[in-house]
Amino acid sequence: MISNIAIVDLLLTITAGLFSILWGIFIYLSLKESEPRAAGIFFLSGALFLLLYLLVLFTDNQHLKWLLLVVPYLPVFILLIPVGGPAPDTETFKGNRIDERDIMFSRRLLEEGTEDYNNYYSKYPERKQADDETRARPGFLSERSLFYDPLLFAAADASFETVKALAPEIDGPVSDKKISVSSDKVTGFIKKWGKMLGTINVGITPLRDYHLYSHRGRDHNYGTPVDNDHKFAIAFTVEMSRYMMDRAPKGPAIMESARKYMDAGAIAVQIAWFIRNLGYEARAHIDGNYEVVCPLVARDAGLGEIGRMGLLMTPAHGPRVRLGVVTTNLKLDPDKQKQDPTLIDFCNKCRKCATVCPSQSISYTGREIIDEKKRWQINQESCYDYWCSSGTDCGWCISVCPYAHPDNLLHRIVRYGIKRSAIFLKLAVPIDDLFYGKNPGPKELPDWMRL
Ligand code: SF4
Ligand code: SF4
Repeated sequence: MISNIAIVDLLLTITAGLFSILWGIFIYLSLKESEPRAAGIFFLSGALFLLLYLLVLFTDNQHLKWLLLVVPYLPVFILLIPVGGPAPDTETFKGNRIDERDIMFSRRLLEEGTEDYNNYYSKYPERKQADDETRARPGFLSERSLFYDPLLFAAADASFETVKALAPEIDGPVSDKKISVSSDKVTGFIKKWGKMLGTINVGITPLRDYHLYSHRGRDHNYGTPVDNDHKFAIAFTVEMSRYMMDRAPKGPAIMESARKYMDAGAIAVQIAWFIRNLGYEARAHIDGNYEVVCPLVARDAGLGEIGRMGLLMTPAHGPRVRLGVVTTNLKLDPDKQKQDPTLIDFCNKCRKCATVCPSQSISYTGREIIDEKKRWQINQESCYDYWCSSGTDCGWCISVCPYAHPDNLLHRIVRYGIKRSAIFLKLAVPIDDLFYGKNPGPKELPDWMRL
């Protein structure tokens, strides 16, 4: 008969073996992510546990052995037992359209003395002084900016120029040979093909009035009312590289932004072209050529929630994504909105993006009702002002977000725990601070990026 002593020793040995394998994987993944601090904490905690285990194994204290056996499984229980959690947030958005002329990308283009400038600031005199100051700063990709880097800025500019080259292709003639397709078949086709084109996720929503801008705010379209009668919108996400975003707010962040605007643009143009080939209207919405507010469309298409930094928070990559949208008259099957209340709940507790933001543009408080939508919104003026000094589009908030960690085993376990247990969700914020720092700064540029 196996004695109690033999059983506990056997279980302790198995536990220590499993624990060592798991911790070994976590150390490997942390090193792969270039997170030496996290790897060090895993190593030290693992070594401490194994030392404790060896000491206890060679004692005769059975109580201590059983205690040590239970302790490593506690986090597993916390992870698996569904405790509490926020109520599903079933609110649907509504409200008025946003005028694209009000966003900083449009306001920065206003030139003093022009009719558009005079009209805008006679309507909003309170915005004039701060906008003039922002326009006087070095600006995007400028040689005078804080993070100017001839190599990296030239690369970012090359990607932005390539997006511009896509502009004439966002809309076009519709084939007069209409192909009859069922909505479920073509929806499935677009989703599968979208993945092959490089998206992470594709969602469909009915196009709602508040998805659309009221007026365009860029270049020759300035002031043109948006008149889009499409019935459906296809929204998709593309992943931004962690490796590049870890260097935010320096040059690699804007290189990556531009590259992903380009990828999202090329995918949107292809999907729109495909739909027009089938004989239905379709328009791609790409960087510099939006008729829609992409995060609102993507949220309603079930791709995520609007997080504290006012961006779409996706379950697997957080805000570390770029969005693309295609609107169309082709009948599609909309997705059921799979709202994830834990994303909002986590943002309520976290505030890491607000802490690091160099312009303090992100709110520390809860969501507010903004134009009939309960959401967070950043101070776009101060954020953009920082961009015009730094020369990049910053992205520091994106890089530190706990949801923006790579989508690997380690972080999937954490995300699973957050979703399942309110206790785990509460612990996840201080644990992230411990492993990755409360206020992490940008990583060094690799050699290949230096002149
Ligand atoms: S950093 Fe924290 S508060 Fe900010 S968006 Fe990410 S999870 Fe939300
Ligand atoms: S992009 Fe930079 S300045 Fe803007 S909100 Fe994020 S951290 Fe703040």
